[in-house]
Amino acid sequence: MTHDAKRVALVSGGSRGIGRAVVKRLAAEGHDISFCYQSNGEAAISLEKELGELGVQVLARKVDVADADSVRAWVAETQETLGTVDVAVTAAGITRDNPLLMMTDEQWSEVRSVNLDGVYNVCRSVVFEMMKRRSGSLVLISSVAGVYGHATQSNYAATKAGIIGFGKSLAKEIGRYGIRSNVVAPGFIETDMTSVLGDKIRDEMLKSIPLKRFGAAEEVADLVSFLASERAGYITGSVFQIDGGITI
Ligand code: NAP
Repeated sequence: MTHDAKRVALVSGGSRGIGRAVVKRLAAEGHDISFCYQSNGEAAISLEKELGELGVQVLARKVDVADADSVRAWVAETQETLGTVDVAVTAAGITRDNPLLMMTDEQWSEVRSVNLDGVYNVCRSVVFEMMKRRSGSLVLISSVAGVYGHATQSNYAATKAGIIGFGKSLAKEIGRYGIRSNVVAPGFIETDMTSVLGDKIRDEMLKSIPLKRFGAAEEVADLVSFLASERAGYITGSVFQIDGGITI
């Protein structure tokens, strides 16, 4: 830690799944939390209640990460009420799977807007204050699909690969300001996103995973927590796969 004040963590898509586990983990470590969600207010409210018991400050906002103005306003409000953001985690993401010939222009652009523009919007908004403070950690959630590709996910995989290029470029660009930028690429993790997979696909995937199970969101949160912290002070520009070995 480079300053005495409480650390502030901002998490996009923090109300469910991996983002929610990250929020809970960072709050348990004492971070004040600002998180956003898109539409599921109930999940956000239940998380706010859980965090209330930890005695940290919490700001929960309904923000579409694809909308640059809304993200700017959310980050500005976070900075005003909680202070400069020390850690930004971009977990908001969606899938709209289809083989290329069936893919609609909307499916392509919606995934791009949320998954890629959303990451740009968050990082673009938090980085200037981090530069002034000369410290900060960005943890961007990609996917193994962005490293290896995945049939029927050309839209999703393109955004997740884009996040890797974006995160590495930032590491080179803003490392001199004491800001680290790392990417986490999960495999199959038990969340609402993967709960829609049919039993047949699930069984097929399990066959290819050496550890013979899907991962838990909390396991991804452990890795994010490490990367966010000063324990990872000499790590930047790296891509960390957490996938039970599926990509071996
Ligand atoms: P999830 O359970 O579906 O949760 C997605 C979260 O993102 C929710 O909080 C959702 O808010 C929020 N969100 C979605 N669109 C948003 C938008 N436009 N603006 C703001 N927030 C938005 O997903 P997950 O499985 O935890 O995935 C989290 C991240 O990990 C994603 O980037 C995903 O691509 C990546 N990932 C997941 C897996 C996996 O197996 N689960 C694997 C690799 C990578 P609402 O509740 O309001 O919709």
